[in-house]
Amino acid sequence: MPHLEKFAVALIMVAVVAGFLAPRERPGDRASRIQPAAGVARSAPGQAPGQAPPKAPAAAPPKPKPKRAPFNQAKAAAAARAVGANELGEVPILMIHRVMTKAQASLDRTTKELYDEFTGLAKQNYDPVTAAEFVTGKINIPAGKHPVVLTFDDGSITHADFDGAGNPKPDTAVGILQRIARENPGFRPVATFFVNRDPFYGGSKPGIETMRWLTRNGFEIANHTTNHKDLSKMSRDELDKEIGTDEKMIVDAIGRPSITFAFPFGSYSHLDWAQQGDGAGAKWSFTGMFLAGWKPADSPYAKDFDPQRIPRIRDKEKIKEDDCKQYCSTAWFEWLAKNPDKRYTSDGNPATIAFPQDKMIYLAPRYKDWACPY
Ligand SMILES: [Zn+2]
Repeated sequence: MPHLEKFAVALIMVAVVAGFLAPRERPGDRASRIQPAAGVARSAPGQAPGQAPPKAPAAAPPKPKPKRAPFNQAKAAAAARAVGANELGEVPILMIHRVMTKAQASLDRTTKELYDEFTGLAKQNYDPVTAAEFVTGKINIPAGKHPVVLTFDDGSITHADFDGAGNPKPDTAVGILQRIARENPGFRPVATFFVNRDPFYGGSKPGIETMRWLTRNGFEIANHTTNHKDLSKMSRDELDKEIGTDEKMIVDAIGRPSITFAFPFGSYSHLDWAQQGDGAGAKWSFTGMFLAGWKPADSPYAKDFDPQRIPRIRDKEKIKEDDCKQYCSTAWFEWLAKNPDKRYTSDGNPATIAFPQDKMIYLAPRYKDWACPY
């Protein structure tokens, strides 16, 4: 959808011009990263000038985890300290559109660019988790590794298509991830695909089969509305139809509801309407909703984590456009490498949420039973 992608870029640019990004701030400046929820409410992309900001989220936060068996605090803390665990650190969530041999639109990525970038992530101890795993707090990766969430928008056949033998084509997103997993043992080849109507259209399998194949192989399929329209101008009925029609298609295909949702163009509004609803033959209740964006996300265990407005980072080198020199993926991975204390690092123990003692103030109170400060 090149025209939509151009529109998305235009929205990001408008946001930049509108002062959506504090102009002189450096990526990751802590104050700036606490602030955006408020800043965003002032001038959300897609929001008409002067329109009232969206109401503060009233929807339920993600449900607390089920009770877990008590753990040996001293032993768990020692293990966490040994790898510098920080499970209240930040998590980069990449927003990716088409994957092309040769880029045709500004949001396109090439096969080589993705292969090189993801290989670099594997070498730097990043391990992918899906958007659903992230928002539900199931970040089960080995000790010392950093989660990264790879999200692909709009259900393009450049994400998932198959050869005559039924294997993923090597130049698709899925093919690239599987190759990286073969070359870097331990790297999880998982990602989230936010799809609209007719997903993976034009591929060697019907879209419904591709969605089933992806789900069977650990990938996530999630809701991105059926027609990819800006939700901010819609009535509740229209919005229910946009989300419900997509949701019904997904449930009919894979037999389970979407856990996550991405706003078309990252243009978010009507947060509560979008989060839970009923329409067009489907019911939904999303645990996490994703924007376009410009910064890593808070840990899902952090008290600042806002499940209705989870930022994503545009996947791109440090080009001038969109302020990518500071706000796209290459810039952020460099920043996270230089600021390891800000980055999420796993302790490898799913029974605990481990972090240095001085980060205790960032912990969401509902997770205090799992806290393992050291
Ligand atoms: Zn989209």
